[in-house]
Amino acid sequence: MSSEIFDIAIVGGGPAGLSAALTGRIRNKSVALFEHMDFSLKLQKAHIVDNYLGVPQITGQGMMQQFLAHCMSYKPNIIKEKVVNIFPGDGIFTLLTPGETYQARTVIIATGVVATTLFRGEKEFLGRGVSYCATCDGMMYKGKDVAVISYTAEGEHEADYLSELCRNVYYLPQYKEAPAVRSGIKLVHDKPQSIHGDVVVEKLQMSKEELNVHGVFIIRMSDPVENIIPGIDLDGEVIKVNRDMSTSIPGVFAAGDCTGKPWQIAKATGEGLVAVLSAITYLGKKDK
Ligand SMILES: Cc1cc2nc3c(=O)[nH]c(=O)nc-3n(C[C@H](O)[C@H](O)[C@H](O)COP(=O)(O)OP(=O)(O)OC[C@H]3O[C@@H](n4cnc5c(N)ncnc54)[C@H](O)[C@@H]3O)c2cc1C
Repeated sequence: MSSEIFDIAIVGGGPAGLSAALTGRIRNKSVALFEHMDFSLKLQKAHIVDNYLGVPQITGQGMMQQFLAHCMSYKPNIIKEKVVNIFPGDGIFTLLTPGETYQARTVIIATGVVATTLFRGEKEFLGRGVSYCATCDGMMYKGKDVAVISYTAEGEHEADYLSELCRNVYYLPQYKEAPAVRSGIKLVHDKPQSIHGDVVVEKLQMSKEELNVHGVFIIRMSDPVENIIPGIDLDGEVIKVNRDMSTSIPGVFAAGDCTGKPWQIAKATGEGLVAVLSAITYLGKKDK
């Protein structure tokens, strides 16, 4: 376990998370910023952004570079790991990543939103064959057959890792670039539709064919949020927040796309600011 207890843990390094981290550091708080992929691959895909005040006609990638450089100049602790679970404790939150445990006094969720519809059967079989993390759950599928559905090239590493454990790994890339996976991994160019089984997963149905598998790993930029922090109140698929960006769990705040529409950069950075100021107020009350 990492020995430091951070004032603020921010999960997600998109516009919302970076905005929160910047102000957290300006206010001299210790900040851990968790980002498991490249910083907002989603925004980096934007060809041109022209609705952010004062920054006309900029590429999404250029904008993210500016956001990141500004935030980094205040030296938050960047932790390039995926937060898979957050547990509230006695005034302290424990954050689990596949290989490490961290602690923080407050948490800001800024994980973005699942941009695709969930598959039929995905929620039902979560933990019973459906997983969002190969490093966390791979060992359960040793010697078995699994499918990896991935919306980003990150999924290639997950598939490579699973190929060391599993009998058959089927890789279903849902992105444009040609995937580079280890030989032995079976590439399947098809659209996944639904996940089936009795008690546990038995089959992945795709548009053209079906695969008999024991596990289905789904790699997206953002996972459904209730998977990271069980018990948090939702408003449909997004996190229910108050005006100060507090959630139903004291000490946990949320910002950006994960709190709902409009899915826009200005809303994300604004909410990141409000969330971190509220976290700082919360810390101040605890210290009295
Ligand atoms: C093609 C495209 C064009 C767009 N154009 C515009 C535009 O012109 N103007 C505009 O205002 N908006 C635009 N948007 C929307 C904008 O990109 C989003 O509203 C904005 O990025 C939301 O910021 P966010 O920080 O809430 O989430 P995101 O940008 O999605 O960032 C979330 C981050 O959290 C990380 N993450 C997720 N889960 C975890 C975890 N468990 N552990 C660690 N890290 C995690 C992800 O890797 C990601 O980097 C566009 C979006 C797309 C896809």
